[in-house]
Amino acid sequence: MSSRVGTAAEATASFACAGECVDPPLTGIDSGVWHAVERIHPPRMTGGPDRGVAVCGRAVMVAAKFGPFDRERFPDRTCHACTWVVAIRAGAVGQEIARLTGGASEPVLAVRVAAAIVAAQSQPGTDDELDHPRTVALLAAVSAHAPTPLISPECGDGGCEHPPRVPCPAVVVACLACSQRCGGWAGEGEGTCMPECTITAPCEVLRALAAHYRIACTDTGEAPDRPGLPGDRS
Ligand SMILES: [Zn+2]
Ligand SMILES: [Zn+2]
Ligand SMILES: [Zn+2]
Repeated sequence: MSSRVGTAAEATASFACAGECVDPPLTGIDSGVWHAVERIHPPRMTGGPDRGVAVCGRAVMVAAKFGPFDRERFPDRTCHACTWVVAIRAGAVGQEIARLTGGASEPVLAVRVAAAIVAAQSQPGTDDELDHPRTVALLAAVSAHAPTPLISPECGDGGCEHPPRVPCPAVVVACLACSQRCGGWAGEGEGTCMPECTITAPCEVLRALAAHYRIACTDTGEAPDRPGLPGDRS
């Protein structure tokens, strides 16, 4: 499978009919995580019309009322593996890699690692397709551990000290997967990083991948000059 950037028309065509008729994936959910559900005719899943198989392999409930899978609909709770499989099928790998910058303008470690995984898997003579579960698992790990800019706890509580009408600036770049995040007990703060355990990016997962692909880490870990997400970091 090619890693080049494709057009919407190509994306539609690639879903059209490859041997058996496969429509664009539907939206599915399992344990609060949104997935892309295979729409294969005839359906292979037993157990009722609401059950389906996600493109990542999970058995999920089909949420047909949401229509086709859209990685933008629930960005914080969407399966990374499904997102990559859909991007690979649509020839949109370049766009997916470009989302890993965490607001930085230069290609951060997550971007370079993801590009290296795609490049290694796109070599002539490579046994596996780019959408092989092993490759998708590595790309999904990069997405999960990609840098996320966070704002200060003061900004998070609405006590901004910067000029009004300016977006809250990022104060740190964190790995959300490695950081401990507040649960429902935090009310509006649910999902924000706990100050006791906010892990800066790039985390050890990205560093391990970078070492394997012989990529030097030049990331400073400094916050990009861009707005951040509520982080509750002190
Ligand atoms: Zn999935
Ligand atoms: Zn991490
Ligand atoms: Zn602010």
